[in-house]
Amino acid sequence: MTETAISTATESVADFAARARAWLAENMPTIDPDHPPFSVRAEQASWDHAKDLQKRLYAGGFAGICFPREYGGLGLDHAYQKAFDAECRGYEMPLILNVPTFTICAATILDMGTEAQKRERISAAIRGDEILCQLLSEPSGGSDLAGVITRADRRGDTWVVNGAKTWSTSAFAADYGLMLARTDWTVPKHEGLTMFLVPLNSPGITMRRIKEVNGNEEFCEEFFDGLELSDDAVVGEVNKGWEVASRQLFHERRAVGGGSEFASGIGAENASEMPPDHIGLIERTGQSDDPAAQERAGRALVRRIVKEQLINHVGQGIGNGSLPPNAGTLIRLFHAETTELEVDTALAIAGTAGVIDEGGDSSDLADIGVRYLSRQTGSLGGGSSEMARNVIAERILGFPREPAADKGVPFNQVKRGRT
Ligand SMILES: Cc1cc2nc3c(=O)[nH]c(=O)nc-3n(C[C@H](O)[C@H](O)[C@H](O)COP(=O)(O)OP(=O)(O)OC[C@H]3O[C@@H](n4cnc5c(N)ncnc54)[C@H](O)[C@@H]3O)c2cc1C
Repeated sequence: MTETAISTATESVADFAARARAWLAENMPTIDPDHPPFSVRAEQASWDHAKDLQKRLYAGGFAGICFPREYGGLGLDHAYQKAFDAECRGYEMPLILNVPTFTICAATILDMGTEAQKRERISAAIRGDEILCQLLSEPSGGSDLAGVITRADRRGDTWVVNGAKTWSTSAFAADYGLMLARTDWTVPKHEGLTMFLVPLNSPGITMRRIKEVNGNEEFCEEFFDGLELSDDAVVGEVNKGWEVASRQLFHERRAVGGGSEFASGIGAENASEMPPDHIGLIERTGQSDDPAAQERAGRALVRRIVKEQLINHVGQGIGNGSLPPNAGTLIRLFHAETTELEVDTALAIAGTAGVIDEGGDSSDLADIGVRYLSRQTGSLGGGSSEMARNVIAERILGFPREPAADKGVPFNQVKRGRT
């Protein structure tokens, strides 16, 4: 592996890009466009491979471009990352480390973590040694995040955690997770929470994979039975966990919308991220002269173009202050709805061939039906589309807040479930 000189603050974006171009050509595997190296996120081998690629980037001096130097990054601004992304098109990159490791978890630790957490966890992730995940949602519900009931009780110098988390993306491959727990039940719900950075190989944690309707097994659920944590695990301040969680959600919305400077590399992680080829589908199913099929495909293609424009527009607006940071939610909502339209359109064009193997030219179209089964993940991951609409209404448009029966009520007096 060739190492290049570590970039300096005086290196121009163009020089940085030229140095990256030469280094990538010599050190990173190229992609065969007909057989892209898509990662199957449910397989450990994909994560091992991503770590190897990340180690190469680190050894070459191109990892953690926008993370500060003291935590293992290069301390450069977004323009350098964008230039690097443009250069690395066509090369294998550890894209599955972007969400949630870098763009959500490491970004949150950078904003809210202790000095030790930043030095240890962020740099381990940048070196390609560790993976991070989010432990927020619970079996009782994910939208009301401030209502979590996993508890962390103080016993002497130790926190003892009991409860359960669910839908944790790629937790099986992760080393640490950001976990929100209730540490004070006598105050209103937002005031009694603490965020912990949990080593996932600790005794007291049982992790299981969840099998989805499409057969995927990436999500995990975790059960905490007397898990013991020290004060070193607290992120931010005790009972100020909502501040940390809010920051985490902020980073998640930006990441899902494609607007995080901490994401590195470009392209689709796997086939399900590639937009369906609606025109190719029309041709293969013999509908090239059918105006109804053309109109369907046209509507989906236009929506995709509008989405790209919206990402630019909102990104610029947040950057120049004409839109609030929460405006990332606009992208997040539009992205979810566009994905649904694209997948629905593909299935409508494929017709029965999308669900039954009819042989001939359309024999492999059943993939479209399998993809349809997970069409709604974009409208749930990172908070549901309904919650995104609430954010847009209340925090961007300034509409009145939703009435909340538990506002200002000590959490141990709030009615929950059937009680
Ligand atoms: C792809 C994907 C990745 C995910 N990754 C993670 C992860 O890594 N870590 C993690 O902790 N979780 C993760 N999740 C879970 C996700 O955060 C939750 O699914 C989401 O927050 C919704 O919670 P829920 O499924 O419990 O639905 P609920 O909260 O039970 O909501 C059920 C329905 O009620 C609606 N609803 C609820 N409250 C309101 C309201 N106030 N106003 C209007 N409508 C409302 C919701 O929109 C939804 O339609 C992931 C989910 C997906 C799909």
